[in-house]
Amino acid sequence: MSGQPPGDQPPHARTMCYCAERPAAFWIYNGQLPVCMPCYEAFMRASDIQQRQAERHLNFLQDQMGFITGIPGLGARYPEEQAPIHFQPVVTNNNIRVSNSTVGAINTGQVAHLNVLMTGIEATNPALAEGLTRFANAAVNEPTLSAPDREELLTLIEAVSEAATKPPSPKSKLLMMPWLARIGAIAASVEALLEIWDRVKPLFH
Ligand SMILES: [Zn+2]
Repeated sequence: MSGQPPGDQPPHARTMCYCAERPAAFWIYNGQLPVCMPCYEAFMRASDIQQRQAERHLNFLQDQMGFITGIPGLGARYPEEQAPIHFQPVVTNNNIRVSNSTVGAINTGQVAHLNVLMTGIEATNPALAEGLTRFANAAVNEPTLSAPDREELLTLIEAVSEAATKPPSPKSKLLMMPWLARIGAIAASVEALLEIWDRVKPLFH
């Protein structure tokens, strides 16, 4: 049904697929029909459906035979198909949370916006999204940070996150530099924040 090119096929020959769009990668129908990868996949899927229909029909005949003879369950049946289990990827990055102690002092709309931005960054720079989320979490919930510092820090994180969702350019890099420096200056007052920031800052590009 499928396999290698026929023996008389020179190895360098670029035989085109039956669809005439891509070079062939497989030969189906006893090496008679060259097909490319996507066509082969479609072919295999169709064969699979046919195979399943045939199995169902054989099971039906077997049951019918059992009914006619009065001796059910003679011989083996094809097992019933099990539904595949799909696992959803677990999203752990996108979760800046406000603890009870700082909840009144935080602009929750800003935190919600940050979470949206993190999801955007995650698509192109997952390491940065994860690092920024950790940093924002620490900044939001750091009890020793003054209210004005926290506010400024969150606004700066929002600004650099927004910039990070767009394709980088020399101009955006230049504009981001003072923001990154100011975040570092505020973070420097809290050891735990600085420790995270030192690892996050190089992830901007
Ligand atoms: Zn094809």
